[in-house]
Amino acid sequence: MRGKIYKIFLTGILFIFIFRVCFINHMAATRINMKEKENETVTALNSNSSIQWIAKIENEIAKDKVLGTDTKKNYMDLYPDMYVESIKPVIYLEEKKIAYLSFDDGPSHITSDILEVLDEYNAKATFFVLGCTITEEGEDCLKIMVEQGHTIGIHTYSHNYKNIYSSVEAFLDDFYQDYLLIYETTGVKVNIFRFPWGSYNSYNKNIRDELIAEMERRGFTYYDWNVSAEDSVGNPTEYRIKHNIMKDLDKYNNPVILMHDSSVNRLTARTLPDIIDSIIEKGYDFDTLDNREPYQFGN
Ligand SMILES: [Zn+2]
Repeated sequence: MRGKIYKIFLTGILFIFIFRVCFINHMAATRINMKEKENETVTALNSNSSIQWIAKIENEIAKDKVLGTDTKKNYMDLYPDMYVESIKPVIYLEEKKIAYLSFDDGPSHITSDILEVLDEYNAKATFFVLGCTITEEGEDCLKIMVEQGHTIGIHTYSHNYKNIYSSVEAFLDDFYQDYLLIYETTGVKVNIFRFPWGSYNSYNKNIRDELIAEMERRGFTYYDWNVSAEDSVGNPTEYRIKHNIMKDLDKYNNPVILMHDSSVNRLTARTLPDIIDSIIEKGYDFDTLDNREPYQFGN
């Protein structure tokens, strides 16, 4: 009986021993297998196509980073003296009716006529001037504008859409020439501007958002308009110019009125007294745009 128990015991030990040997062999085989697979992976990663693939992704990320930083850096490096203090609009305690007359595309030989009319009425206005039209007479006009309390705004130097809207840099370059010329003539650091053809036009759509962000970063505020004399469209009569303004004026307590004082706008100068009389009759005062909250298309 004791011998039988002893045999069973020995058989058990033997069975356990065989099982362990088999198990260890199996584990070793699995480890070798895994190692081989790891090696296969490394080999795969080291293959040319994989390296190229990873390099391509890394390059794309790096390119984005470089472009992003460089773009901002480039604008920041440009024209370090073209930063201005932003406008401080006048806040009225009660809703006042104030009309904001604005003249684009001057100065020209009719600008002095317009200045005379404004002076007679003691009406303040805003002039968005072009650098390319500033003659000696134009320089005098700019000085009178400042003396009489009008506001000068920038309308770019060239008004050439192919140039100014070709890139943000091109716009800055053109704008800077106008900015500098006005500063050298009047000592005023202009802080408002109007985009040629307004802020939303088909020429600037590719750079608009970036351009606006850059101009605002520099402290400049732009103004569009909500009432237009349409005095640079076709050949309008004096009656039509005035009618175009008066038909929309009542819609706003603070209308921003677009007119022009380029050399072809003689009728605008001639009908201006009549326009001002009619606006006063409607109960409006006049002020310059830098005292008004920005009026901008799309906002
Ligand atoms: Zn214009």
